[in-house]
Amino acid sequence: MSSQKIVQVALPVRLRRLFDYRTDDLERTPANGTRVLVPLQKRKVVGVVCGSSESSSVALSKLRQVVRVLDDSPLLPKELFKLLSWAGRYYHHPIGDVMQTALPVLLRRDRAAEPKTAYHWRICDAGRERLDTIPARNAAQRRVLSLLAVADEAGLAAGDLSSEGASAATVLVRLEGHGLVEKVRPGSAASCEATEAPPPLNPAQQVACSALDKSQNSYKPFLLDGVTGSGKTEVYLDFVARTVSQGRQALVLVPEISLTPQLIARFEGRLGDSLAVLHSGLTDTQRHRAWWRAREGSAAVVLGTRSAVFAPLARPGVIIVDEEHDLSYKQREGFRYHARDIAVKRAQLANVPVVLGSATPSLESMANAVSGRYGHLKLKSRAGSAKMPKIEILDLNRLAVNDGLSAPVVGAIGDRISRGEQSLVFVNRRGFAPVVVCTECGWQALCPRCDARQTLHRRTGRVICHHCGSQTSLPAKCPQCHTPGLFAVGEGTQRVEEALVRIFPKARVMRIDSDVAGPAEEIARALEAVRERAVDILVGTQMLSKGHDFAGVTLVCVLSADQGLYSLDFRGPERLSQQLAQVSGRAGRRDSPGAVLVQTSHPESPAFARLKTHDFVGFAKEALIERKAAGYPPYARFALMRAESTQSGAPMTFLRSAALAGEALSYRKAVEIMAPVPSPMERRAGRFRAQLLVRSKDEHRFHRFLDNWLQGIESSRGATAVRWSIDVDPQEMY
Ligand code: ADP
Ligand code: ZN
Ligand code: ZN
Repeated sequence: MSSQKIVQVALPVRLRRLFDYRTDDLERTPANGTRVLVPLQKRKVVGVVCGSSESSSVALSKLRQVVRVLDDSPLLPKELFKLLSWAGRYYHHPIGDVMQTALPVLLRRDRAAEPKTAYHWRICDAGRERLDTIPARNAAQRRVLSLLAVADEAGLAAGDLSSEGASAATVLVRLEGHGLVEKVRPGSAASCEATEAPPPLNPAQQVACSALDKSQNSYKPFLLDGVTGSGKTEVYLDFVARTVSQGRQALVLVPEISLTPQLIARFEGRLGDSLAVLHSGLTDTQRHRAWWRAREGSAAVVLGTRSAVFAPLARPGVIIVDEEHDLSYKQREGFRYHARDIAVKRAQLANVPVVLGSATPSLESMANAVSGRYGHLKLKSRAGSAKMPKIEILDLNRLAVNDGLSAPVVGAIGDRISRGEQSLVFVNRRGFAPVVVCTECGWQALCPRCDARQTLHRRTGRVICHHCGSQTSLPAKCPQCHTPGLFAVGEGTQRVEEALVRIFPKARVMRIDSDVAGPAEEIARALEAVRERAVDILVGTQMLSKGHDFAGVTLVCVLSADQGLYSLDFRGPERLSQQLAQVSGRAGRRDSPGAVLVQTSHPESPAFARLKTHDFVGFAKEALIERKAAGYPPYARFALMRAESTQSGAPMTFLRSAALAGEALSYRKAVEIMAPVPSPMERRAGRFRAQLLVRSKDEHRFHRFLDNWLQGIESSRGATAVRWSIDVDPQEMY
């Protein structure tokens, strides 16, 4: 019997601690990363072993036994296990929740790790030839082969081939060894061959690729800083292909909205179908399968959104984060990790290169590139014959607008229609109009549950709060002075769409925003329609700005850039510059030159001068100087504690006592605890909210401080009076 009797288990509970269990009944102590079924109060739950020891702070007699070990070998590979442990510490998030995040939903339950139908089996030509010559004593092989011989291209699952309880698995593996059968992914009868040849790389791409090549097999972060349409994806594809040809896996992360069939097809076309795709639109079974293929290594490339950064990999070779500046990499609730930052840490632990790519890099990554910590690869012009678009700033102080559209914008769209080209029109808000007022008494439609206005959705005749979703029907008269006819001020996507349909009755106008775009497939279909030129004018919100490559779009119109100029967040200017550069980047990506029209009431703002010369780097360098002077990230560490409650005073009371508790702790001198403040939108969905910022220039002490501080708060009595959370490296300050 082993001398180690106790395991420390991470359980699906929101506590910053592990739980001890005895293992005396077991043959051997399960290793870290193995799932175990354990009793928790009156339930049985699945946890992940995170350590073992010979003693516990709890009396042995009080400790309960592990009920069952669920995995023969650790489900979480060592490298991933280490990463998750680190992430729990770095984000100061309960480890049980961190481990859960890494598991596909199905494996959070008491069930076998291996999916039943991870792949199908198909007979090869050699198998058909041998079919009749297999000796009678190999009856099982013969039976399996003859079943496969009559199956279709998609093949059969091992389970379908088993008979009378005898598993076909070992027979299949033997047949595979002889080259008589092969594995195929269910639902895909395509061959594993790449079908597309890469374009010859241009000199800038070649420089980037050879720099990456030199760093194979060791940790090295790179920033691939290339303007929109400069061919970054080609650089990824090239490096991924090399990595795969050496028998190692590539993990490729993309923002949620970029994971379109177009991108998947591009990877499949180049790398064959040994691709596992992980995103939020999968069913639990699909996710489990893709996860498993990543883990066993049969997927050479794992392509996914944020949470795919935790995909297990048998032989990691490279990690790529496309559009690394994108906000969708930051998880906004619960375990608030940033997938880009996790990716860099993971590359370090796995000792592989990591490539962060963007036309508008985050200032964090830019600072690392400028300081030399990251290799800085630049693609300064567009690939092929495409040129950067021409940018024109339209002064709203001098131009009249109707439904948000000025005459130059209408004229430019008309030109494109007559030339058979496409236009993209960006509007800040969805809905018809963001404000509903009474012109008599000044009444406004406000959300009863938030400190916010309601947006008019005219087609349904409702006013909706975009923050909490609550809605009512549009009153016919002013509720305050009873004057009939309320007035809709400002424009959302619906109003602009209606106006364009009126102005260009023959044009095909389409709108994409989160009101239309339900499931991912629906957005994908809409984007496909644009690509197939079945649309002349596409109206939409920011969600259209990301990474899309529309060949026919030669005009981009931004109806109002002003909102971004007045952001409360210190990242406001960064976000505005990124968004403008990204939306502009959708124009003129092929031979026809592109144009961008930006309407603003503040044409003198420096953001526009930078935009006109496509000088995002210039902006970034200047902004970094300001950040340094102000003591903001990336030159300081931030953690934001948020609290909310239905009781108006409770969040502030809680945060005040939290701030006070911090005063007495060790490492206090290394951190600055700011005064608690109500959130900019104090009431949301009926809850009052407040926040407290802690910052430090000393990363190590900062984390030690947070450890002590949060342990104390978690066990304090006030902690149950409000809902509170900690956000390390917050991306949004409200
Ligand atoms: P990015 O990822 O930087 O936005 P892409 O890789 O999508 O850029 O490339 C933009 C367009 O240019 C694509 O249509 C792509 O096929 C094309 N392209 C990229 N590299 C080359 C090249 N070396 N020669 C010709 N066309 C290229
Ligand atoms: Zn009124
Ligand atoms: Zn609301």
